[in-house]
Amino acid sequence: MVPRVVFGNGSFLQLGEILMPKRKNSEAPFIFFIDAIFEEHSLLTEIPLLFNDQIIFISSEEEPKTKQIDVLVAKIKESFSELPSGIIGIGGGTLLDIAKAVAIMLTNSGSAADYQGWDLVKKPAIYHVGIPTISGTGAEVSRTTVLMGPEKKLGINSDFTPFDQVLLDPNLTQGVPKEQWFYTGMDCYIHCIESLTGTFLNAFSQSYGEKALELCKEVYLGAPSPKESRDKLMMASWHGGMSIAYSQVGVAHAMSYGLSYLLGVRHGIGNCLVFQHLEEFYPEGVSVFKEMQRRHHIKLPTGICAHLTAEEFDIMINVSFGLVPLWENALGENWKEIMTREKLLSLFKKI
Ligand code: NAD
Ligand code: ZN
Repeated sequence: MVPRVVFGNGSFLQLGEILMPKRKNSEAPFIFFIDAIFEEHSLLTEIPLLFNDQIIFISSEEEPKTKQIDVLVAKIKESFSELPSGIIGIGGGTLLDIAKAVAIMLTNSGSAADYQGWDLVKKPAIYHVGIPTISGTGAEVSRTTVLMGPEKKLGINSDFTPFDQVLLDPNLTQGVPKEQWFYTGMDCYIHCIESLTGTFLNAFSQSYGEKALELCKEVYLGAPSPKESRDKLMMASWHGGMSIAYSQVGVAHAMSYGLSYLLGVRHGIGNCLVFQHLEEFYPEGVSVFKEMQRRHHIKLPTGICAHLTAEEFDIMINVSFGLVPLWENALGENWKEIMTREKLLSLFKKI
């Protein structure tokens, strides 16, 4: 679990104070990975830079790749005589995952691709801080960092992955475009449905999942003020992430990873594209999802898989079936009898 967390509108201003005791010496910088959309933003004037601290802007147009992590780690090692005092990620799931992965790879040898899987990381990461600017993924609280590797899209799941410190300032999520707010928020909603209906469910996951689901409904079906909505969605994301930390996601995520691997479809929208067709597995969840979609006038694109070849469908199916724990959670031990290749193919063809 994340051992330290600060919550509050305006809490971003406390970052300098939080980092100060973690500074090793003037040669060991803090490296700030910030979403490139903030390049011209007033937020930058609040970044507490000292000595040789560095800001690295990264575009979240594409989701993080193992190669990209390797390059960033090599660059940091080349540029400084000492390991950094810490890594700070500021942005959505993409930037948070980059910060976690770089912090791990600064102390572990080889390529990030070597650690995709469960509990493969040997050494503790360097100090790392997560500051979300959009709510929903739960990446701020999870024990994984999801990366696209040469062979698979899979997380580095380990006890060293979670942030040492998270700063939750809902003000930072002002300005997220409506569609993106919906897609990333629905990632949280889908985490709740997949966790709460899964066979891995336990009292720990259920307690967080139920709270997150209640908050998602208040945000997307109620009439909160913009400030309430930002506060609630940030806490929904946190609880949703906590819920899957001790259970698993399910069918929508397994399929969305396949879409993302082949077509580069991003996580939030990918989950929505899949989830709308999963009535058979999540009847109530899908019907509420569609109500939320109507309420906010969200039109999902169609024809995404219309022109794919049989080989391309095969690739998506293989990536998707590779995520065994997700299928086991969703459909139980005998999942292969329920979700056959033909059935999965027919679902992908609907998208
Ligand atoms: P993202 O980080 O890709 O950001 C989505 C878009 O929102 C980007 O265009 C970004 O620039 C923009 N944005 C972010 N903050 C903004 C702000 N304050 N104002 C305006 N625009 C803003 O999206 P995401 O949905 O948060 O994250 C998706 C990524 O998270 C995927 O790579 C996925 O694999 C990963 N993920 C990780 C976990 C985990 O547990 N580690 C869980 C779920 C998803
Ligand atoms: Zn997700």
